Amino acid sequence: MDVRIEDSCTCCGLCVEICPEVFDMGDITAEVISNDIPPECIDAVTEAAEECPVEAIVID
Ligand code: SF4
Repeated sequence: MDVRIEDSCTCCGLCVEICPEVFDMGDITAEVISNDIPPECIDAVTEAAEECPVEAIVID
């Protein structure tokens, strides 16, 4: 699972709220802490991508 945050992120903090194991707030956008996504976090990462108000979370 490859997860990245696009520049369109508005720093709303929702993804960090949903899955703090994977997302953190950076200075300009949210950040992916590590692309080594724990299996138990996959559902939460998918949810964060679906819930992101500007669709800035991209999963490949
Ligand atoms: S949910 Fe989307 S807009 Fe909000 S901080 Fe995360 S990536 Fe940025």
